[in-house]
Amino acid sequence: MSTHDSALKFERHPIHTDVVIVGAGPCGLFQVFELGLLGLKAQLVDSLKAPGGQCVELYPDKPIYDIPAVPVCTGQELTDRLLEQIRPFGAGLNLGQEVTEVARQDNGRFRVVTSAGTVFDAGAVVVAGGVGSFQPRKLDVPGAAELEGKYIHYRVKDPRAYADQDVVILGGGDSALDWALTLVDHARSVVLVHRRPEFRGAPASLAKLYALRDEHRADVLIGQAKEVNAVDGVLKSLSVQGADSVVRRVDLDQLLVFFGLHPKLGPIANWGLEINKRQLSVDTEKFQTNVAGIYAVGDINHYAGKKKLILSGFHEAALAAFAIKEYLEPGKKVHLQYTTTSPLMHKRLGVESAEEQAAARKAASG
Ligand code: FAD
Repeated sequence: MSTHDSALKFERHPIHTDVVIVGAGPCGLFQVFELGLLGLKAQLVDSLKAPGGQCVELYPDKPIYDIPAVPVCTGQELTDRLLEQIRPFGAGLNLGQEVTEVARQDNGRFRVVTSAGTVFDAGAVVVAGGVGSFQPRKLDVPGAAELEGKYIHYRVKDPRAYADQDVVILGGGDSALDWALTLVDHARSVVLVHRRPEFRGAPASLAKLYALRDEHRADVLIGQAKEVNAVDGVLKSLSVQGADSVVRRVDLDQLLVFFGLHPKLGPIANWGLEINKRQLSVDTEKFQTNVAGIYAVGDINHYAGKKKLILSGFHEAALAAFAIKEYLEPGKKVHLQYTTTSPLMHKRLGVESAEEQAAARKAASG
């Protein structure tokens, strides 16, 4: 199928939803809950492979003490609890893809497109993009950019692609260690290069790698990548400066770089939204941006008195949900109902009592 054909296919089959939420950090996840209580369906999209935003990407094991009624939980635990809380609402979770385009269609709805080619047709959009989408930190040495994609990579799509190749991996975190351990079974040779003897990755993984080195199945070099050396556009070697200041050349076919991720506002800056110091300006009644139908919650938004705290984002998500309900169903009164007592909320949450189920059956039978 040609690219043109596949584009047509996507055009014919966009995913229809009430709301697309850009970002599956804590605030994007809680947005699903608040929309769900009001009977609105959502699709979440995140450029990361796992939900949780900063909580999972930056501090999964660190304790958080200021979530109301949760004296302490880690970043990962908070994410797991939010995922459990939103489960009744069946939101789509589209991970590992960045939202690249948001545009209003002739009928007033939004066309939202991701880097993976997924297209949504949404009534409203909530940008819960935090500090932006996380992008891999690039190797900053001359010539590296030209070799990217063919010889220098920032993610591994298929380890089998490295069969019979001499691979060098840069980095000291879990990604670098895990891929070194995996590629030992695929590549002709694997050398891990890290700038210092202390590694950020799991000690057990490091121990495994050193054991493989002792078996002469992999190598570990401590030093700083200084230069990539290519001949006629083909990567030949990497120059690594050791602690002794000596520069050594390591021959290789492929270079994998895992220097971690850093946030970038990215495509959000191109959607016609008013930006104030890398944040989106919103009102504090609806948390709507300057574009009707596009809202922003969490760290990404800016208003007088904004505090970048998870609980602030939760409050914003609640108010944005009410505003979106009114926006999508104009003229219809949106009543505030308590989850404690509202049978409608219980139904949406899937926690109807026996009495409520009997009453619903009676009502359905006429
Ligand atoms: P984020 O968590 O940043 O998530 C945004 C998500 O959007 C990301 O996953 C990103 O990949 C995605 N994204 C962005 N752009 C796109 C796009 N175009 N397409 C697809 N996906 C996109 N807060 C507290 O309240 N209490 C604490 O104790 C606390 N401790 C912290 C400790 C550390 C070390 C750090 C760094 C922060 C801490 N914070 C704490 C702050 C808290 O983590 C943030 O306020 C919170 O994560 C904001 O949530 P969010 O959902 O708005 O954004």
